[in-house]
Amino acid sequence: MIEILNRAQLDRAREAGALVGDILETLRRRSTAGVNLLDIDRWAKEMITGAGAQSCYVDYAPSFGRGPFGHYICTAVNDAVLHGRPHDYTLADGDLLTLDLAVSQRGVAADAAISFLVGKARPADGVAMIETTERALAAGIAAARPGARIGDLSHAIGTVLGEAGYLVNTEFGGHGIGSTMHQDPHIANIGRPGRGYKLRPGLLLALEPWIMADTDMLVTDADGWTLRSATGCRTAHSEHTIAITDDGAEILTLPGQARP
Ligand code: MG
Repeated sequence: MIEILNRAQLDRAREAGALVGDILETLRRRSTAGVNLLDIDRWAKEMITGAGAQSCYVDYAPSFGRGPFGHYICTAVNDAVLHGRPHDYTLADGDLLTLDLAVSQRGVAADAAISFLVGKARPADGVAMIETTERALAAGIAAARPGARIGDLSHAIGTVLGEAGYLVNTEFGGHGIGSTMHQDPHIANIGRPGRGYKLRPGLLLALEPWIMADTDMLVTDADGWTLRSATGCRTAHSEHTIAITDDGAEILTLPGQARP
């Protein structure tokens, strides 16, 4: 199902997006060496429920997981890349951490992810991977406007990832979003321009390029949740929820957008 939001729903999407952006920015600042992933999950819960919003993850129970996710945020460290389940792990200087957060507020969901290095260490490979996913995300957003097709966004994202030398996994990618977190259309992180669904104002999309340093193969933890690089290499992931407007694309999940 593809949803087209009306003006009132778009306003609620902006509120949900602003909340996601602000929570992620707060958690980025707090995620220093010595912090436990379970602390981050608890802080996420406090901020989501404190704002009167709902976590899209805590009861999320797709077929691949053994039982509901049971946590409020995805925390993926180093070789973990997607669906990272918070567990008893203490962050160390130089860890590459991805936080992925989706909330629903007044019936509309927003979804975003950030990758960053913990502490002061700046290993060149980690910096390059994070910058590459951020540039790919920006390219996908720049290609999003009424009349463009999903393939144009996939092509823009995949071109940045490919030219930086990364393999692109096509099992997981971006998605439509609206009254629920995951909707059609699927947005692969590689694709051909001019193909696929034509974008219309009122469409909400979550674009999410992600890469692994030297592979496109994933392995899954025994609980069915955390997806890791098959080689143990590090990974990075950047995501924003955007709204297609008459003028182009509006990024909803930036920090600092909340109305007073
Ligand atoms: Mg997503």
